[in-house]
Amino acid sequence: MLAEFRQQLHNLPRGLRTRFAPSPTGYLHLGHAASAVFVWGIAKAIEADVVLRIEDHDRGRVRPEYEKAILEDLTWLGLIQTPDFFRQSDHWDRYQSKMEEARARGLIYACTCSRREIQERTGEESRDELRYDGHCRFLGRAESQAGLRLQLDDRAFAFHDLWAGPQVQKPHEQCGDLLIRDRDGNWTYNFAVSVDDAAEGVDLIIRGQDLLTATGRQLQLRSLFGITQPIQVIHHPLIWESPERKLSKRDGSTSLRHLREQGQSPAMILGQAAFSVGLLDRPQPLAAHELKGLFA
Ligand code: GLU
Ligand code: ZN
Repeated sequence: MLAEFRQQLHNLPRGLRTRFAPSPTGYLHLGHAASAVFVWGIAKAIEADVVLRIEDHDRGRVRPEYEKAILEDLTWLGLIQTPDFFRQSDHWDRYQSKMEEARARGLIYACTCSRREIQERTGEESRDELRYDGHCRFLGRAESQAGLRLQLDDRAFAFHDLWAGPQVQKPHEQCGDLLIRDRDGNWTYNFAVSVDDAAEGVDLIIRGQDLLTATGRQLQLRSLFGITQPIQVIHHPLIWESPERKLSKRDGSTSLRHLREQGQSPAMILGQAAFSVGLLDRPQPLAAHELKGLFA
Protein backbone atom coordinates (compact mmCIF):
# COMPACT_ATOMS: atom_id res chain seq x y z
CA MET A 1 0.00 0.00 0.00
CA LEU A 2 2.65 2.46 1.12
CA ALA A 3 5.01 1.40 -1.65
CA GLU A 4 2.31 1.93 -4.24
CA PHE A 5 1.44 5.30 -2.74
CA ARG A 6 5.08 6.39 -2.88
CA GLN A 7 5.24 5.29 -6.49
CA GLN A 8 2.21 7.41 -7.36
CA LEU A 9 3.74 10.39 -5.58
CA HIS A 10 6.92 9.89 -7.47
CA ASN A 11 4.99 10.07 -10.75
CA LEU A 12 3.52 13.49 -9.96
CA PRO A 13 5.04 16.53 -11.62
CA ARG A 14 7.42 18.71 -9.55
CA GLY A 15 6.39 22.21 -8.55
CA LEU A 16 2.83 21.48 -7.41
CA ARG A 17 1.35 23.59 -4.65
CA THR A 18 -0.32 22.11 -1.61
CA ARG A 19 -1.68 23.65 1.57
CA PHE A 20 -2.13 23.17 5.28
CA ALA A 21 -5.44 24.71 6.28
CA PRO A 22 -6.23 24.59 9.99
CA SER A 23 -9.27 26.29 11.50
CA PRO A 24 -8.47 28.46 14.52
CA THR A 25 -11.33 26.98 16.52
CA GLY A 26 -9.12 25.01 18.90
CA TYR A 27 -5.54 23.97 19.55
CA LEU A 28 -3.67 21.72 17.14
CA HIS A 29 -3.68 18.11 18.29
CA LEU A 30 -1.99 14.90 17.25
CA GLY A 31 -4.38 14.51 14.33
CA HIS A 32 -3.21 17.83 12.91
CA ALA A 33 0.36 16.72 13.42
CA ALA A 34 -0.40 13.63 11.31
CA SER A 35 -1.86 15.84 8.60
CA ALA A 36 1.20 18.08 8.79
CA VAL A 37 3.46 15.04 8.41
CA PHE A 38 1.68 14.21 5.16
CA VAL A 39 1.59 17.77 3.87
CA TRP A 40 5.18 18.80 4.58
CA GLY A 41 6.64 15.33 4.08
CA ILE A 42 5.06 14.91 0.65
CA ALA A 43 5.82 18.49 -0.34
CA LYS A 44 9.50 18.00 0.45
CA ALA A 45 9.59 14.62 -1.27
CA ILE A 46 8.11 15.90 -4.54
CA GLU A 47 9.35 19.49 -4.41
CA ALA A 48 5.93 21.04 -3.94
CA ASP A 49 5.21 24.39 -2.24
CA VAL A 50 3.14 24.59 0.92
CA VAL A 51 0.67 27.40 1.49
CA LEU A 52 -0.49 27.94 5.05
CA ARG A 53 -4.11 29.04 5.23
CA ILE A 54 -5.91 30.01 8.40
CA GLU A 55 -9.50 28.93 7.78
CA ASP A 56 -11.40 31.38 9.92
CA HIS A 57 -14.59 31.45 7.85
CA ASP A 58 -16.75 30.45 10.82
CA ARG A 59 -16.47 33.71 12.73
CA GLY A 60 -18.61 32.56 15.63
CA ARG A 61 -16.17 29.80 16.59
CA VAL A 62 -12.83 31.41 15.75
CA ARG A 63 -10.59 32.82 18.47
CA PRO A 64 -7.43 34.90 17.88
CA GLU A 65 -5.52 33.03 20.57
CA TYR A 66 -5.99 29.78 18.61
CA GLU A 67 -4.54 31.35 15.50
CA LYS A 68 -1.56 32.54 17.50
CA ALA A 69 -1.12 29.09 19.03
CA ILE A 70 -1.31 27.38 15.63
CA LEU A 71 1.49 29.55 14.27
CA GLU A 72 3.58 28.97 17.39
CA ASP A 73 3.05 25.22 17.31
CA LEU A 74 3.95 24.90 13.63
CA THR A 75 7.08 26.96 14.21
CA TRP A 76 7.99 24.90 17.26
CA LEU A 77 7.55 21.68 15.26
CA GLY A 78 10.03 23.07 12.74
CA LEU A 79 7.48 23.04 9.90
CA ILE A 80 7.39 26.77 9.19
CA GLN A 81 10.08 29.39 9.55
CA THR A 82 8.17 32.60 8.95
CA PRO A 83 4.51 33.04 9.72
CA ASP A 84 3.68 33.68 6.12
CA PHE A 85 0.05 32.77 5.55
CA PHE A 86 -3.33 33.54 4.05
CA ARG A 87 -6.29 34.22 6.30
CA GLN A 88 -9.80 33.79 4.96
CA SER A 89 -11.19 36.81 6.78
CA ASP A 90 -8.64 39.01 4.97
CA HIS A 91 -10.32 38.46 1.64
CA TRP A 92 -14.04 38.20 2.17
CA ASP A 93 -14.37 40.04 -1.16
CA ARG A 94 -13.20 36.88 -2.94
CA TYR A 95 -16.22 34.96 -1.74
CA GLN A 96 -18.57 37.84 -2.31
CA SER A 97 -17.53 38.23 -5.91
CA LYS A 98 -17.84 34.50 -6.65
CA MET A 99 -21.27 34.51 -5.05
CA GLU A 100 -22.28 37.49 -7.21
CA GLU A 101 -21.03 35.65 -10.27
CA ALA A 102 -23.27 32.70 -9.44
CA ARG A 103 -26.15 35.00 -8.61
CA ALA A 104 -25.87 36.68 -12.00
CA ARG A 105 -26.34 33.22 -13.49
CA GLY A 106 -29.50 32.69 -11.46
CA LEU A 107 -27.96 29.99 -9.29
CA ILE A 108 -28.33 31.58 -5.86
CA TYR A 109 -31.40 31.61 -3.64
CA ALA A 110 -32.12 32.55 -0.05
CA CYS A 111 -33.00 29.80 2.39
CA THR A 112 -34.46 30.31 5.84
CA CYS A 113 -34.56 26.66 6.89
CA SER A 114 -32.98 25.56 10.12
CA ARG A 115 -31.30 22.19 10.42
CA ARG A 116 -34.21 20.99 12.50
CA GLU A 117 -36.77 22.00 9.85
CA ILE A 118 -34.84 20.19 7.15
CA GLN A 119 -34.66 17.12 9.34
CA GLU A 120 -38.36 17.22 10.08
CA ARG A 121 -39.26 17.45 6.40
CA THR A 122 -36.85 14.87 5.11
CA GLY A 123 -37.20 12.50 8.05
CA GLU A 124 -33.42 12.15 8.24
CA GLU A 125 -31.97 11.14 11.56
CA SER A 126 -29.58 13.64 13.03
CA ARG A 127 -26.26 12.85 11.43
CA ASP A 128 -23.35 14.85 10.10
CA GLU A 129 -24.53 14.92 6.54
CA LEU A 130 -27.97 16.36 6.03
CA ARG A 131 -29.36 16.49 2.53
CA TYR A 132 -31.16 19.74 1.75
CA ASP A 133 -34.43 19.09 -0.06
CA GLY A 134 -34.57 22.30 -2.12
CA HIS A 135 -37.52 23.62 -0.13
CA CYS A 136 -36.79 27.36 -0.57
CA ARG A 137 -35.64 27.17 -4.17
CA PHE A 138 -38.76 28.69 -5.69
CA LEU A 139 -40.06 30.61 -2.71
CA GLY A 140 -38.25 33.88 -3.37
CA ARG A 141 -37.24 34.36 0.26
CA ALA A 142 -35.81 37.70 1.36
CA GLU A 143 -32.05 37.53 1.84
CA SER A 144 -31.73 39.40 5.08
CA GLN A 145 -31.05 36.92 7.85
CA ALA A 146 -31.39 34.04 5.43
CA GLY A 147 -28.70 31.63 4.28
CA LEU A 148 -27.68 31.55 0.64
CA ARG A 149 -27.79 28.35 -1.36
CA LEU A 150 -26.21 27.50 -4.66
CA GLN A 151 -28.13 25.26 -7.04
CA LEU A 152 -26.25 22.13 -8.00
CA ASP A 153 -27.22 19.94 -10.90
CA ASP A 154 -27.13 16.18 -10.40
CA ARG A 155 -23.88 15.41 -12.18
CA ALA A 156 -21.53 12.74 -10.84
CA PHE A 157 -17.86 13.47 -10.28
CA ALA A 158 -15.20 10.81 -10.67
CA PHE A 159 -11.69 11.30 -9.39
CA HIS A 160 -8.70 9.29 -8.33
CA ASP A 161 -7.49 9.75 -4.79
CA LEU A 162 -3.82 8.85 -4.51
CA TRP A 163 -4.40 7.23 -1.14
CA ALA A 164 -8.03 6.13 -1.18
CA GLY A 165 -8.24 5.07 -4.85
CA PRO A 166 -10.95 5.73 -7.43
CA GLN A 167 -14.07 7.58 -6.26
CA VAL A 168 -17.39 8.60 -7.73
CA GLN A 169 -19.55 11.14 -5.92
CA LYS A 170 -22.88 12.76 -6.65
CA PRO A 171 -22.87 15.94 -4.59
CA HIS A 172 -26.50 16.76 -5.23
CA GLU A 173 -27.53 13.38 -3.87
CA GLN A 174 -25.23 13.77 -0.87
CA CYS A 175 -26.06 17.27 0.27
CA GLY A 176 -28.56 18.88 -2.11
CA ASP A 177 -28.17 22.55 -3.00
CA LEU A 178 -25.11 23.81 -1.21
CA LEU A 179 -25.32 26.35 1.58
CA ILE A 180 -22.59 28.81 0.73
CA ARG A 181 -23.34 31.50 3.30
CA ASP A 182 -25.09 30.74 6.56
CA ARG A 183 -27.77 32.76 8.29
CA ASP A 184 -25.14 34.60 10.34
CA GLY A 185 -23.40 35.75 7.19
CA ASN A 186 -20.47 33.30 7.41
CA TRP A 187 -19.19 31.75 4.20
CA THR A 188 -19.24 28.01 4.54
CA TYR A 189 -16.43 25.51 4.32
CA ASN A 190 -16.86 23.93 0.87
CA PHE A 191 -17.43 27.22 -0.87
CA ALA A 192 -14.63 29.13 0.84
CA VAL A 193 -12.11 26.33 0.42
CA SER A 194 -12.86 25.89 -3.29
CA VAL A 195 -12.56 29.61 -3.96
CA ASP A 196 -9.32 29.77 -1.97
CA ASP A 197 -7.70 26.71 -3.49
CA ALA A 198 -8.27 28.23 -6.91
CA ALA A 199 -7.22 31.77 -5.93
CA GLU A 200 -4.06 30.54 -4.23
CA GLY A 201 -3.08 28.22 -7.05
CA VAL A 202 -3.38 25.04 -4.99
CA ASP A 203 -3.30 21.94 -7.17
CA LEU A 204 -2.47 19.25 -4.63
CA ILE A 205 -4.94 18.74 -1.81
CA ILE A 206 -3.76 16.71 1.14
CA ARG A 207 -6.14 16.32 4.07
CA GLY A 208 -7.81 13.79 6.32
CA GLN A 209 -10.20 11.11 5.14
CA ASP A 210 -13.05 12.74 7.00
CA LEU A 211 -13.14 15.25 4.14
CA LEU A 212 -13.20 12.72 1.32
CA THR A 213 -16.97 13.15 0.86
CA ALA A 214 -16.47 16.90 0.37
CA THR A 215 -14.26 16.52 -2.67
CA GLY A 216 -17.01 15.89 -5.22
CA ARG A 217 -18.79 19.07 -4.26
CA GLN A 218 -15.53 21.02 -4.36
CA LEU A 219 -14.91 19.66 -7.86
CA GLN A 220 -18.42 20.67 -8.79
CA LEU A 221 -17.83 24.21 -7.51
CA ARG A 222 -14.60 24.42 -9.49
CA SER A 223 -16.39 23.28 -12.60
CA LEU A 224 -19.25 25.69 -12.03
CA PHE A 225 -16.82 28.59 -11.70
CA GLY A 226 -14.87 27.58 -14.77
CA ILE A 227 -11.69 26.68 -12.87
CA THR A 228 -9.89 24.38 -15.24
CA GLN A 229 -6.68 23.73 -13.32
CA PRO A 230 -6.73 20.02 -12.44
CA ILE A 231 -6.13 19.00 -8.83
CA GLN A 232 -4.54 15.95 -7.28
CA VAL A 233 -6.11 14.74 -4.06
CA ILE A 234 -4.83 12.70 -1.14
CA HIS A 235 -7.10 11.87 1.79
CA HIS A 236 -4.93 10.34 4.45
CA PRO A 237 -5.95 8.11 7.37
CA LEU A 238 -7.00 9.69 10.63
CA ILE A 239 -5.96 9.00 14.18
CA TRP A 240 -8.79 7.44 16.13
CA GLU A 241 -9.53 8.26 19.75
CA SER A 242 -11.52 5.05 19.93
CA PRO A 243 -12.76 2.68 17.22
CA GLU A 244 -15.84 4.87 16.72
CA ARG A 245 -14.50 8.33 17.16
CA LYS A 246 -11.73 10.27 15.45
CA LEU A 247 -9.56 12.59 17.51
CA SER A 248 -11.09 15.98 17.95
CA LYS A 249 -10.35 19.28 19.57
CA ARG A 250 -12.20 18.08 22.64
CA ASP A 251 -9.43 15.61 23.37
CA GLY A 252 -7.26 18.12 25.19
CA SER A 253 -4.80 15.41 26.23
CA THR A 254 -3.51 15.14 22.67
CA SER A 255 -3.20 18.87 22.08
CA LEU A 256 0.31 19.67 20.99
CA ARG A 257 0.53 22.24 23.80
CA HIS A 258 -0.21 19.57 26.36
CA LEU A 259 2.24 17.07 24.88
CA ARG A 260 4.89 19.77 24.84
CA GLU A 261 4.25 20.59 28.49
CA GLN A 262 4.65 16.90 29.24
CA GLY A 263 8.18 17.20 27.90
CA GLN A 264 7.70 15.76 24.41
CA SER A 265 10.01 17.11 21.74
CA PRO A 266 8.90 18.13 18.23
CA ALA A 267 10.55 15.00 16.81
CA MET A 268 8.74 12.76 19.31
CA ILE A 269 5.40 14.26 18.35
CA LEU A 270 5.98 14.04 14.60
CA GLY A 271 7.23 10.46 15.00
CA GLN A 272 4.23 9.51 17.13
CA ALA A 273 1.86 11.08 14.60
CA ALA A 274 3.54 9.27 11.68
CA PHE A 275 3.34 5.98 13.57
CA SER A 276 -0.33 6.48 14.46
CA VAL A 277 -1.33 6.71 10.81
CA GLY A 278 0.79 3.77 9.72
CA LEU A 279 3.72 5.62 8.17
CA LEU A 280 6.18 4.10 10.66
CA ASP A 281 6.30 0.57 12.11
CA ARG A 282 7.03 1.87 15.57
CA PRO A 283 7.06 5.29 17.22
CA GLN A 284 10.48 6.83 16.83
CA PRO A 285 11.56 10.46 16.83
CA LEU A 286 11.37 12.13 13.45
CA ALA A 287 12.48 15.72 12.92
CA ALA A 288 10.72 17.99 10.43
CA HIS A 289 13.58 17.73 7.93
CA GLU A 290 13.33 13.93 8.02
CA LEU A 291 9.66 13.73 7.02
CA LYS A 292 10.40 13.56 3.34
CA GLY A 293 12.05 10.19 3.91
CA LEU A 294 8.62 8.72 4.68
CA PHE A 295 7.47 9.40 1.14
CA ALA A 296 10.60 9.18 -0.96
N1 GLU B 1 -10.05 23.74 7.80
C1 GLU B 1 -10.30 22.33 7.70
C2 GLU B 1 -10.01 21.66 9.02
O1 GLU B 1 -9.31 22.20 9.84
C3 GLU B 1 -9.45 21.67 6.65
C4 GLU B 1 -9.94 21.96 5.31
C5 GLU B 1 -9.26 21.30 4.15
O2 GLU B 1 -8.12 20.83 4.28
O3 GLU B 1 -9.87 21.27 3.10
O4 GLU B 1 -10.51 20.57 9.22
ZN1 ZN C 1 -34.69 26.49 2.88
